[in-house]
Amino acid sequence: EIRINSQNYMEYIELVAKKIEASKDYVSELDSITGDGDHWANMNMGFQKLLESKQELVAMRLGQMFQKIGMLIMSTVGGSSGVLYGSAYLKAAKTIGDKTEMDIHLLRDVLEAELNAIMERGNAKPGYKTMIDALYPAVIRLKEAIEKGLDGHEALQELKQGAIDGMNSTKDMEAIRGRACYQANKGVGHIDPGAVTMCYQIETLVEYLCK
Ligand code: ADP
Ligand code: MG
Ligand code: MG
Repeated sequence: EIRINSQNYMEYIELVAKKIEASKDYVSELDSITGDGDHWANMNMGFQKLLESKQELVAMRLGQMFQKIGMLIMSTVGGSSGVLYGSAYLKAAKTIGDKTEMDIHLLRDVLEAELNAIMERGNAKPGYKTMIDALYPAVIRLKEAIEKGLDGHEALQELKQGAIDGMNSTKDMEAIRGRACYQANKGVGHIDPGAVTMCYQIETLVEYLCK
């Protein structure tokens, strides 16, 4: 059974921070080709900030922790991703409310709240070649898996595969949002860097919960 409390979520954050840290060359290169090259630095700065705030974060109730993460990301991470992830965490905090842990149903609702926050804040939809293209299919597949009655671990594998497939699907998309839309070829032929780091976060969560 899946249960995620503040301690668990911090352990997950530590794993994501490592994964992002190790992806410098690839993610920087993707954002250099399709944008302004800073996406890795933006994300890495944010996750390093969360690590620095570990003691404060683990001591909080889960909803409070998400709210604090949102505020830390908003104030540390530059660029589009700072605003978008900040909004995502703030909205997710409201979904969690005063609950102290997430089960698979609350996790689904939290991910859906994050998706909606990002789509609203960035005025974007699936198919615009952004981080949404990794998160949206992941959430859809998680929801379908839960509806079909798959067990928690199977449902999480669907979440992960949705993110991977969604990330890869950005390669052939023409950008409608983000800096890639200012390029002559709209980024066609290159995976969106924001979709890559979104996918890393989802994959890491699933690997952590299924280990
Ligand atoms: P910036 O483009 O401001 O330098 P980043 O490089 O940190 O910010 O983030 C770029 C990523 O943000 C893109 O690869 C894309 O996935 C995502 N993104 C940009 N604009 C939007 C938007 N309006 N909605 C959703 N995601 C977006
Ligand atoms: Mg950038
Ligand atoms: Mg930038």
